Amino acid sequence: MKRTIKAFLVICCLAICLTLCLTACGNKCEHNYDNDCDAICNDCGETREVGAHDWSSATCTAPKTCSVCGATDGNALGHTPADDDGDCTTAIKCKSCDQIAKSGNQSHAYGTITYTWANGYSSCTATRSCAVDGCDHTETETKTATQDGTIFTADFEGEAFDTQTIDASVKIDGVTVNPWENVDIDGGEAEEETKN
Ligand SMILES: [Zn+2]
Ligand SMILES: [Zn+2]
Ligand SMILES: [Zn+2]
Ligand SMILES: [Zn+2]
Repeated sequence: MKRTIKAFLVICCLAICLTLCLTACGNKCEHNYDNDCDAICNDCGETREVGAHDWSSATCTAPKTCSVCGATDGNALGHTPADDDGDCTTAIKCKSCDQIAKSGNQSHAYGTITYTWANGYSSCTATRSCAVDGCDHTETETKTATQDGTIFTADFEGEAFDTQTIDASVKIDGVTVNPWENVDIDGGEAEEETKN
């Protein structure tokens, strides 16, 4: 009987010690705080003496941040793009931090090229414009035409522009015009007749 009581006491003792040891934040265990500025232990609720967060203002790329514990609050402000210069290949810098707020495109994205013959076919003008929204870049070349009989040819320097050839023998309302597309024709219905 005496032995049983002794065993019971030993077990009780062990249980109490074990409980003490396992209880979070017992003497040997470390407290669990969210960060260096957190005063209350997450496990045992014990409080400690800490300073308040030392917040630095939010910037374009970082939210409001504590210099002591690194905690953040809210979001980064984001860049404030400076005025667009109307050229999509130019990067736009940030008004506040001078970093690039919007990078420029590698190159312009040109739409359809238009070719416009001058009256009398003395020259032809090729024009292509960037189709990117907000980009007003336009490339233009006017080439003096060479003439071979009724055939006029404009051989552009620009690699993007194709050589244009037109047969001036085709007339509309008595005026020689290009029967093809992409050429400005001032009204009148097509009325083809062959020039002698
Ligand atoms: Zn604790
Ligand atoms: Zn802090
Ligand atoms: Zn910025
Ligand atoms: Zn462009």
